[in-house]
Amino acid sequence: MQVHVVPVTAFQQNCSVIWCDATRQAAVVDPGGDLERVLSVVEDNDLELQKILLTHAHIDHAGAARDLAERFQLPIEGPQREDAFWIDQLPAQGAMFGLPAARSFTPDRWLEQGDEVTVGQERLQVLHCPGHTPGHVVFFHPEQRFAIVGDVLFRGSIGRTDFPRGDHDQLVRSIRERLFPLGDDVRFLPGHGPMSTFGEERRSNPFVGDRLFAN
Ligand SMILES: [Zn+2]
Repeated sequence: MQVHVVPVTAFQQNCSVIWCDATRQAAVVDPGGDLERVLSVVEDNDLELQKILLTHAHIDHAGAARDLAERFQLPIEGPQREDAFWIDQLPAQGAMFGLPAARSFTPDRWLEQGDEVTVGQERLQVLHCPGHTPGHVVFFHPEQRFAIVGDVLFRGSIGRTDFPRGDHDQLVRSIRERLFPLGDDVRFLPGHGPMSTFGEERRSNPFVGDRLFAN
């Protein structure tokens, strides 16, 4: 599976185009905006768009999902259905976050813990990781030891929990009980900023590292 990151919106959200080498079928993960830049990756690599995957429904991740879905008749998969209230509020989130207004939608498929999503012949596992938002999901590719974690975990930090239905303790549990057990060697793409590994964060992250939980 190939991954090409395209930072989008004023928040430099790490939208990604992921694709299957065998079929050239692609998914756009978290199309928050700047669709023309995202679509140039699709064109440059001669890809066939197959679907949209969403980690959660904050506007910088999902703001352009409906536009992209309509333009190419693509299904939207994710997030988990507890994020429905954030999807409903997409038009208002623009004012809340200082971004252009976005349209709401209904996902073609809500995702749950243990589900699998496919892109061509590639398969990714779905992990439900609430805390930043209640319906946040993470996509994990076991063979490549690679995860797309949205705003759950960052290099040296974790997602904000001061939004409606955010929950700091729940977020820490999601990271320590659902992500870290996947293995120290797993590389992850966060929603913002540089990549890291679960091992590096388990050792040194000041919010979820082992040192905090030693006693
Ligand atoms: Zn977010």
